[in-house]
Amino acid sequence: MMPFLRTDLAKLHAYAPHPEAAAHLSSVPVDRLDTNECPYDLPEDLKQKLVWTYQHQIEANRYPEGSHAELKQAIAAYVSESAQTPVQIAPAQVSVGNGSDELIRSLLIATCLSNQGSILVANPTFSMYGILAQTLGIAIVSVPRTETFTLNLEAAQAALDSAQTPNQAPVRAVFVVHPNSPTGNALTESEIAWLRELPPQVLAVIDEAYFEFSQHTLVSELANHPNWVILRTFSKAFRLAAHRVGYAIAHPDLINVLEKVRLPYNLPSLSQAAAHLTLTHRHRLLQSVPETIQQRAILYDALCQIEGLKFWPSAANFIFGSASSDPQNVALGQLLKQHGTSVRTTGGGLRITVGSPAENRRTIERLHQCCTQIITASV
Ligand SMILES: *Cc1c(COP(=O)(O)O)cnc(C)c1O
Repeated sequence: MMPFLRTDLAKLHAYAPHPEAAAHLSSVPVDRLDTNECPYDLPEDLKQKLVWTYQHQIEANRYPEGSHAELKQAIAAYVSESAQTPVQIAPAQVSVGNGSDELIRSLLIATCLSNQGSILVANPTFSMYGILAQTLGIAIVSVPRTETFTLNLEAAQAALDSAQTPNQAPVRAVFVVHPNSPTGNALTESEIAWLRELPPQVLAVIDEAYFEFSQHTLVSELANHPNWVILRTFSKAFRLAAHRVGYAIAHPDLINVLEKVRLPYNLPSLSQAAAHLTLTHRHRLLQSVPETIQQRAILYDALCQIEGLKFWPSAANFIFGSASSDPQNVALGQLLKQHGTSVRTTGGGLRITVGSPAENRRTIERLHQCCTQIITASV
């Protein structure tokens, strides 16, 4: 390790970015079902509109609009419309990031940096919380989940209470995903009740990256909880993973601080335009969501027929399953990739994105083949 570097970074495992990112450029087609993207690109005419915007409205020599004012307004309107109960979200309650990953980092900077606090996560969950915390030297307290992957609330509460000791930084932020990745379960009523009771000095980060597939949001409760922040993204249902746009919704005082700690021009002009465009055309783009939900049910039923594997129900656009041991999961993931379907091996299982109907048919077929090879071979 170079002597000027922080020694704790030597131990850090970086996030493994989309291993199949270049797969579509290779001659063998691979179904990329490892990062929970939408199976469909933006329609051609919307891409044309973006091209037009780039040619005629974006000045490449000028910095992007740094306040994101128009985008915040459009996001606030969409979030208000998306809540089950009537709620009016103001643009002052919205901050936009270079992916929600940037917002996660801003939240860590705003709450825990310089030994001010640690974070609480329940594994398995989205790995970026832990990775980003480590890059900032922030301690991570991790608690287990139950058999159905709900938080072990007693362990979580005990961790909150015990971390209030003098030589350990207190827990300042609890990260939950609604529904969780990689396991697909939405927060239960008792988990939500626990979040409602968190003390005011602990921030609840509720990551709703998969909201469009679960159709359940906690946005309408934000007004009662100034210590809650909801994260969303354009990377999943809105088909914009390439553009890196995410947003946070919270009390204006928290939003102000997120605006202070972010980089000044964090969102390129074309990404702002793309996000705005997809919001304008959201009714059309989100038409693929009911298909995904229907495909999820078909895929789940078919996966449950496969001997030797267990799958869990999902409220998101992916399904989590496991063979009887982790080495088997790893072997299965590798073999599946050789057969042309890339899934994510994580959290003690396999996370399979719900793709197009044709991709899902291949997933089922190939999993049957691979399971016969791996699982029956081992008994
Ligand atoms: C995909 C995902 C995100 C989105 O991250 P971006 O940086 O906006 O692409 C956030 N949280 C979770 C849990 C995710 O799975």
